[in-house]
Amino acid sequence: MANLVTVSMSFELLDSIFEGARQLYPKETILMLRGKKSKDTIRITDLIIPPLATYGYGFASYPFHLLPMDFSLVGTVHSHPSGNKTFSDVDINHFFGRIMMIVGYPYASQQDVVAYNCQGEKLSLQITEE
Ligand SMILES: [Zn+2]
Repeated sequence: MANLVTVSMSFELLDSIFEGARQLYPKETILMLRGKKSKDTIRITDLIIPPLATYGYGFASYPFHLLPMDFSLVGTVHSHPSGNKTFSDVDINHFFGRIMMIVGYPYASQQDVVAYNCQGEKLSLQITEE
């Protein structure tokens, strides 16, 4: 269980993820997450729009290997327009970094977001006021 961390993010940041997901709906959105790890918590600090992102019906992906090495990148977040937030086989193949967050339609509340580690285990998620 050593890989289980808590993911923490402000409501404002979560809201901008939802906002972007709603705009692209019914296509998928994908963003990179920048953050800091301290003890057992990963705090998400920024969202980065990946260069050369391809938004599609199916998995939203882009060539990760073209990115500059940046150790503050902690993972990715993408949307599931179906509303099903299950970590799929496709997701495992696109795993990048330490965590993968999935937001599901209708992109409205804390019920619509899940964070996973690279084993597909659900991580606890803390949404903070600031
Ligand atoms: Zn997915």
